[in-house]
Amino acid sequence: MSRQSSQKQSLENRLKTVTSRMEKSHNRYAPKLRAPELIVVSKTFSAEDITPVLDLGQRVFGENRVQEAAGKWPALKEKYEGIQLHLIGPLQTNKVKDAVKLFDIIQTLDREKLAASLSRELEKRGKKLPVFVQVNIGGEAQKSGVAISRAVTFVNTCRDQYGLDVVGLMCIPPAGQAPGPYFAQLYDLAQKADVELLSMGMSADYDIAIEMGATHVRVGSAIFGAR
Ligand SMILES: *Cc1c(COP(=O)(O)O)cnc(C)c1O
Repeated sequence: MSRQSSQKQSLENRLKTVTSRMEKSHNRYAPKLRAPELIVVSKTFSAEDITPVLDLGQRVFGENRVQEAAGKWPALKEKYEGIQLHLIGPLQTNKVKDAVKLFDIIQTLDREKLAASLSRELEKRGKKLPVFVQVNIGGEAQKSGVAISRAVTFVNTCRDQYGLDVVGLMCIPPAGQAPGPYFAQLYDLAQKADVELLSMGMSADYDIAIEMGATHVRVGSAIFGAR
């Protein structure tokens, strides 16, 4: 087997491993909830690295930087149909225009200034874009996201005042702690805020996140290897 096709083989195996673990976790612990979706996180990987994943049929991807994504995804979107690209990293207001052009879903709405800016840009383009509100679920000073205590009000403000299509909540729990209780808390918040989708869980803990009701998991290194 050539080196390239054996690399593709192991990529295929890793992708299968992740999707089958997702399915198991869903069937076993959360069978009544909707089946979770896999977002393959391709940050730091090149278009050449991403192409084999597209060839395997995967269409939902996540990137954490607008500029990096703008360098590789427009060409890939032209070549492959049905790509859904999620922004999963912090968004500065001066990048809103580029973000709205490129991304299909924005998961990191976390402040009113950004809500206002997104709302203006979407109105200008006559475009609807589903957004997730990021919640700082561990209350960490260095992390983005709205405080837990403000999350429901913020969702309502984004909807009522800015006309944004808030479809879900997203979180990144504190490193080095059991994530389960944080995921459970985000699930509760989603009920209170009346949003349907939950983006939580990464390579190390996506099965736990699904157990706690994740509808979207964001998995990078378990598929592409270490960054
Ligand atoms: C990088 C990143 C991921 C993926 O992390 P892995 O541990 O590689 O699966 C998920 N979510 C966010 C917000 C990220 O920045």
